[in-house]
Amino acid sequence: MDINELERIIDSRAKQDEIEGEKSIRPRRFEDYFGQEEIKRNLKIFIEAAKLRKEPLDHMLFYGPPGLGKTTLAGIIANEMGVNIKITTGPAIERPGDIAAVLNNLSEGDVLFIDEIHRLNRQVEEVLYSAMEDFALDIMIGKGPAAKSIRIELPKFTLIGATTRVGMLSAPLRDRFGMLNHLEFYTTEELARIVMHSADLLEVQIDREGAEEIARRSRGTPRLANRLLKRVRDFAMVMYDGKITQEVAEMALNALKVDPCGLDSLDRRMLTTMIDVFGGGPVGLETISAAIGEDAGTVEDVCEPYLMQQGFLQRTLRGRMVTGKCLQYFHRSLPGFGEQLSMKE
Ligand code: ADP
Repeated sequence: MDINELERIIDSRAKQDEIEGEKSIRPRRFEDYFGQEEIKRNLKIFIEAAKLRKEPLDHMLFYGPPGLGKTTLAGIIANEMGVNIKITTGPAIERPGDIAAVLNNLSEGDVLFIDEIHRLNRQVEEVLYSAMEDFALDIMIGKGPAAKSIRIELPKFTLIGATTRVGMLSAPLRDRFGMLNHLEFYTTEELARIVMHSADLLEVQIDREGAEEIARRSRGTPRLANRLLKRVRDFAMVMYDGKITQEVAEMALNALKVDPCGLDSLDRRMLTTMIDVFGGGPVGLETISAAIGEDAGTVEDVCEPYLMQQGFLQRTLRGRMVTGKCLQYFHRSLPGFGEQLSMKE
């Protein structure tokens, strides 16, 4: 494993080689989907009502950082409704013809899941509007004065969109979703349950304290909890008797450079650079990303949501700023930092 891979172990976007492995432990029923209680409660009611009315579910949008279970929820919904799910992503649908073909191949009641829906282009989005609203496609045939528009009826389907950047969704698209669901980071308790459950499926021995140690360092994200579980398992097999205890988990996670708060070297580099080079901020996203040699999208999608939720970082109109908690964590102090904070307030 090279240093880059070590550094990016907390990147909560799915890695290529992980996609297949995830399938085996991805929950297929609400009972195995831990946490997000409010969303689950509402969904169960909507699903039951839709089944009673014998109608498809309303279109819905899931938003929140990567790895929190948006795709998984879409799969569970299709499963509970007893329909098929078709999965695609915004960037994969390049032309209006592509989305027309996808829609035309759906059956009555099917779920169409579009990940990264904020990356759909404008023409494709426009086709989607009438499909979502009227379950129909309006297609222009021919050119010039002889051109005419024909309407193709579509089966009634449910669109489930997922995005990490709800702010980048166009207003007309956002307004066409009947339900907007914000997925929250998970608690340590919930993640520990996920770790125990995955360990069971993977036939890994683990005790409660070992699962909690992994959960604490997983940045509130199930995908990371499962990823760290697999890495810790390797250490447990090679260096211990195979069982994951707190001691084993601690040793392995320290070796993987994931600290007790779940911060990894990219987070640490970002925050310490903000403190040491930019006086704690405010500093713009592009500037800080360039200074640490990281893609701005990664910093915004992967690092920032967790650092903000944990109170290490705040976003202000003038840029990003570190917090008092962050300074304490890194044993730093900044002259005049209190003044900056009060200026912002
Ligand atoms: P997203 O679509 O938000 O990026 P995924 O739905 O692909 O995230 O979830 C990543 C992995 O995390 C899944 O393979 C699944 O195993 C696990 N996971 C996500 N949410 C939960 C949950 N609530 N309970 C159990 N496992 C979960």
